Amino acid sequence: VQKALVVTTKSAEETRIVGASLAPVLLPGDIISLSGDLGAGKTVFVQGLAAALGVQERVTSPTFTIVHEYSGRYPILHLDVYRLNSFQEVLDLGFEEFLDPHSIVAIEWGEAIAPLLPRRHLDIDMRRVPDSDDDDRRLLFRPYGPDWVRKVQAMRSTAETLLDAISEETGEEPRFIVTSEPPARDDMRAGRSGDEGQMEAGES
Ligand code: ADP
Ligand code: MG
Repeated sequence: VQKALVVTTKSAEETRIVGASLAPVLLPGDIISLSGDLGAGKTVFVQGLAAALGVQERVTSPTFTIVHEYSGRYPILHLDVYRLNSFQEVLDLGFEEFLDPHSIVAIEWGEAIAPLLPRRHLDIDMRRVPDSDDDDRRLLFRPYGPDWVRKVQAMRSTAETLLDAISEETGEEPRFIVTSEPPARDDMRAGRSGDEGQMEAGES
């Protein structure tokens, strides 16, 4: 199991910056699964990412349409599987088609379909921070596969630079923390097993 990386953002803008920091290393075929409750900031993250890939359109949650397609430097498929109630529904939709090797694929509520994802992907878990500012969000990045470990490292140094540039305070504690023990999540996690074994499907 690879180490996870945690960053806390203090505004939607900071989350967009972190999303944008991932953009330079993204390539067609990359799959990003975003988890976290409503309002966690999944769409905001994708907004930053898409903008940095040159998308001019407004990026919104594809909650009702399941998928939005954008064109930036590469095609981007932005999915939200929140409304799909069963694997069968996802399969009926032709989910495999959405894992398009020519597109960057970002899936909101991806954990709901974790077993359908290829092993190589990036997992981002977002949540509000208990007992803290309303706008604080903790983003946990879990890279699956060596490519993603490298991409997440690159994102980290880009994000550190950009966040420092907009921050008024300097010299505080580091923004990113490496962790091998992702914080337990009491909701949403039910039915999800350990780090391995949940995403066997689709490996090719
Ligand atoms: P989701 O897609 O996870 O349901 P959205 O991205 O649509 O959530 O909404 C997140 C909401 O939280 C937005 O209204 C955004 O402005 C607000 N927000 C406040 N602080 C943050 C933060 N640090 N990161 C992301 N969004 C934030
Ligand atoms: Mg959303």
